[in-house]
Amino acid sequence: MTFNPDAEIRSDNVSASGGGGGGGGRFRLPGGGGRGGRGLQLGGGGGCLLLVIVIIYALMGNNPLDLLGGGGSGSPQQAPAAQGGPLEHCQTGADANEQDDCLVQATIESADSLWSQLAPESGFDFVEPTGQIFPGEVQTGCGAATADVGPFYCPADSTIYIDVNFFSSLSSQYGADGGQLAKMYVVAHEYGHHIQHLSGTMESADRSQTGPQSDQVRIELQADCYAGVWAHHAANTVDDDGNAMLEPLTDQDISSALSAASAVGDDHIQGEVAGGQVRPESWTHGSSEQRRSWFTTGYEQGTVASCDTFSADQV
Ligand SMILES: [Zn+2]
Repeated sequence: MTFNPDAEIRSDNVSASGGGGGGGGRFRLPGGGGRGGRGLQLGGGGGCLLLVIVIIYALMGNNPLDLLGGGGSGSPQQAPAAQGGPLEHCQTGADANEQDDCLVQATIESADSLWSQLAPESGFDFVEPTGQIFPGEVQTGCGAATADVGPFYCPADSTIYIDVNFFSSLSSQYGADGGQLAKMYVVAHEYGHHIQHLSGTMESADRSQTGPQSDQVRIELQADCYAGVWAHHAANTVDDDGNAMLEPLTDQDISSALSAASAVGDDHIQGEVAGGQVRPESWTHGSSEQRRSWFTTGYEQGTVASCDTFSADQV
């Protein structure tokens, strides 16, 4: 158990789009990529298909925790429009402990509680992001996307997009330990990109380069650090009635989060997952060690200032 079973999770900001739709064969990625899958449903054979897709994606050396481009110039003051309907079955922390879509919603609400306090202290206005659970494929403010890119954040519509089927791949293919905090780390990382969008860091970074010390990697490591900041404060986040949203995190919980950070390290994906050559010059998210290190920094320090990956000589 991770969430306080009695916590209320009734945000209107998280929604789910309907089934993945029928038809087949047309795969789209923003910018005109051409691989992927569609129409994945929870359960059934969809999980297997997703697994294959994610393996292919990993084999191409891509990192599944992505940040889409596509115009971060939209005003973050404007509340994004949610697609689909609310997650009616997600009402309490107990639901979040049992169902992954509710876990996503509850983690976003917990992060809302935290960042609404930290943002003003850090000198930028806070606006809640939208969350979108999607099966298979989805239209976004950054273009069309399929589940093969993994969870992502789109700055143009300030929305965190997650196909919860990804969580099983995270453990079975990438090697995370399957704990609840491994999944919540993913959500908190994407939420970290929203914070970067609000603070202007995302737009000021030069994301044209790759490599272990590139701005692109520093953006990702900062999002990992912000996930750690969330973990530091998670047990103190509250629902609308002031109830604690999470139980105090255990060592096992933190171990789970770190296992996920390791699992999505570029060196791990290129080497152990894809069985290929590790090419640091191509890294976009950082090594397993870098990711663990910055999550740990955020978790131990609990401050926005501790996550200034852009001032560090070496990240
Ligand atoms: Zn990211």
